[in-house]
Amino acid sequence: MQGLLILSVLLGAVFGTEDFVGHQVLRVSAANEAQVQMVKELEDLEHLQLDFWRDPSRPGTPIDVRVPFSSLQAVKIFLESHGISYTIMIEDVQSLLDKEKRQMSSFQARAQSTDTFNYATYHTLEEIYNFMDLLVAENPQLASKIQIGNSYEGRPIYILKFSTGGDNRPAIWIDTGIHSREWVTQASGVWFAKKITQDYGQDPTLTAILDSMDIFLEIVTNPDGFAFTHSSNRMWRKTRSKTAGSICVGVDPNRNWDAGFGKPGASSNPCSDTYRGKFANSEVEVRSIVDFVKTHGNIKAFISIHSYSQLLLYPYGYTSQPAPDEEELDQLSKSAVTALASLYGTKFKYGSIIKAIYQASGSTVDWTYSQGIKYSFTFELRDTGRYGFLLPASQIIPTAQETWLALLTIMEHTLNHPY
Ligand SMILES: [Zn+2]
Repeated sequence: MQGLLILSVLLGAVFGTEDFVGHQVLRVSAANEAQVQMVKELEDLEHLQLDFWRDPSRPGTPIDVRVPFSSLQAVKIFLESHGISYTIMIEDVQSLLDKEKRQMSSFQARAQSTDTFNYATYHTLEEIYNFMDLLVAENPQLASKIQIGNSYEGRPIYILKFSTGGDNRPAIWIDTGIHSREWVTQASGVWFAKKITQDYGQDPTLTAILDSMDIFLEIVTNPDGFAFTHSSNRMWRKTRSKTAGSICVGVDPNRNWDAGFGKPGASSNPCSDTYRGKFANSEVEVRSIVDFVKTHGNIKAFISIHSYSQLLLYPYGYTSQPAPDEEELDQLSKSAVTALASLYGTKFKYGSIIKAIYQASGSTVDWTYSQGIKYSFTFELRDTGRYGFLLPASQIIPTAQETWLALLTIMEHTLNHPY
């Protein structure tokens, strides 16, 4: 282990990529409120450099945390001495990352068409942007690319528009990858884009949807973060903006929206992974969507896709007050997760964000719902924690396929319930 550690630190210094040798992901089971509080105290100890993959919420809900090698002993002793039980979910994070890298590098040829593009592996930002250009070139009557802004570091922010005509038709919005390390989501976004072009004119449901509505798809919603997960730190979640007065970088773009902004359920600490930012819409990646949604003015469903945990969520996150449309949203969620499970038996739970997971303020769909977009949903895709954010590439296509069935259910409902 020692030799490996040294080698990997040296390699890290050469390539500038953060290594995770000896890091483990622990699943902590807090049995009561006092134990939940104790785990939350751990979260505040910055020197431990813990990375919570699933935050502490309530007794009985699993907490997943990546613990660096240097903190492992201290954390395990802390948990054991307080009688808090845990299991090791991932024995060595780096070995999963090495596998992922090997898998990716076995498919390096740049695709010349979306038919030869490999949907069963993870791709870089450049490869995904190249894919988008190929798709648009191959389907000029259906697909187009719109730049809605530039990221903090100056990368173009693109969305794909699927439209069969009409002027400012009612529209569906889907985004993936707002949290950059949730790689199965961008990969699914790519697959959805291809699926739409393949199924239009073939699948009656999708055809009916596109004959009267447009679909907007933002595949890489946080391009700076995504580029950083490839170049430097596979575990990066936030944007890459700098905060004056802090050495820590980035804002959680799913706490930065103008809905309950600043309320409990987000952090005011720039070093936290749920840092909300200095003010609502401070992140250009968020502001670009806000401007687009407001200018468009006719978006009827807004679906923001994350991983992991296998959940389908609707507003609210910042308050326990039920959304006025809760009954309909709950029914629709039930239909959507039933459709999803019909393919491979993958089980999703559903509910409002605050009830199904925990209080989260400033989140995307709370804002879109506040703008009158009734069908506002967040997905958390596979898995439930065996691999977490490091879902093997072999699961990309099945994940995208099953999720597509849920998306179709929501889109069809939106089509059939105009408002
Ligand atoms: Zn996320």
